[in-house]
Amino acid sequence: MIVYQEPLFRPPSEANSLILQATLGCSYNECTFCGMYRQKAFRVRPMEELQQEIEWAKRRIPGIRKVFLADGDALIAKASFLKELCQSLQANFPHLRRISTYASPQALQVRSPEEMQQLKQVGLSLYYLGIESGHDQVLQKLQKGVDAAEMIRVAQKANQAGIRLSVMILLGAGNRALSQGHALESARVVNAIQPRFVSTLVMTPVENTPLWGDFEAGLVDTLSPLELAAELRSFLAALDLKASVFRSNHASNYLALAGSLPKDKPALLATLDQVLKDPENASFIPEWMRGL
Ligand code: SF4
Repeated sequence: MIVYQEPLFRPPSEANSLILQATLGCSYNECTFCGMYRQKAFRVRPMEELQQEIEWAKRRIPGIRKVFLADGDALIAKASFLKELCQSLQANFPHLRRISTYASPQALQVRSPEEMQQLKQVGLSLYYLGIESGHDQVLQKLQKGVDAAEMIRVAQKANQAGIRLSVMILLGAGNRALSQGHALESARVVNAIQPRFVSTLVMTPVENTPLWGDFEAGLVDTLSPLELAAELRSFLAALDLKASVFRSNHASNYLALAGSLPKDKPALLATLDQVLKDPENASFIPEWMRGL
C-alpha cells in the first residue's frame, strides 16, 4: 500500500491524480515564505519502494490517468531514476495521460533540455514552477536563489524541451512598497516564459518560517484585499500571453478568477475594475471584505 510521509502537498489541479512521493522534502528548502518541508530532510526514495506502491495502485485503481510526483522538487532526482520511474508508470497504467511534478528553479538549473525531453517522452510533461515574483529585490528577499533573468533562462530550458509549465506568482510578496513593481516585473517574466498555465496565490505568513519571524516582528507590510486586487489588476493588465489559462482560485485568494488569456483578459480586468471602483456593491465580495 501507499503510506504517505506527511506533510504532503500537491497543486489544486492534481486533485484527481495518483500522488507518488518520488522524493521527500525539498532539496533547496530556503524560500523564506515556505513552510512546507521545513521538518523533512530531503531524500530520493528507493525505487523498490516506489515499485511496490505502483503495484499496489495498479491492483486497486487501474484506470489512473494522471500521476503527480511529490514532494517539493522531484525533478532534482537523477534523470535515469526519473526515467525508470516514468517507464514503470507507463507500463503499469495503460490509461496514463500525463505525469507532472513541482520543479524548483534549482532543479531546472540541474536538468538539461535533452534530459527534460527524454523524460517527456516517457510521460513527464508538466512542471509546476513557483516564480513568485519577477522583481529582483523581491526574489532576493524571498531567497528564491535565482534572479529574474535566471528564472527566465531555466524556464525557457523547459519550453525548449516541449514541457508545459504551470507557474505561480505570489501576490503581496513585494509588500506595499514594491507592490506595483512586483506586479509589472512579474508580468514581464511571465510574458518572457509564455507558460501554459499561470496562477496567483497570496503570500501568507506561516509558522516556523523566516517570513513568520518578520511578521511577528511587525516587518511584513501586509496588503489589504483591495490592495491585492489592485496589484492583481496591474499584473493582469501587463500580461501579454498568446495561449494561457489564468487562475486565481487557490484558497489563499480573496477573489476567485479564472479565464483563458488573451481571450478573457478584458472581462477579468472589468471584474477587477468593478471591485476596485465600487467594492461596497461588488456582490461577489464577502461582507467582511467590503470597505477594506
Ligand atoms: S523551492 Fe518550493 S518547496 Fe522548496 S522551499 Fe522554495 S517554495 Fe518551498
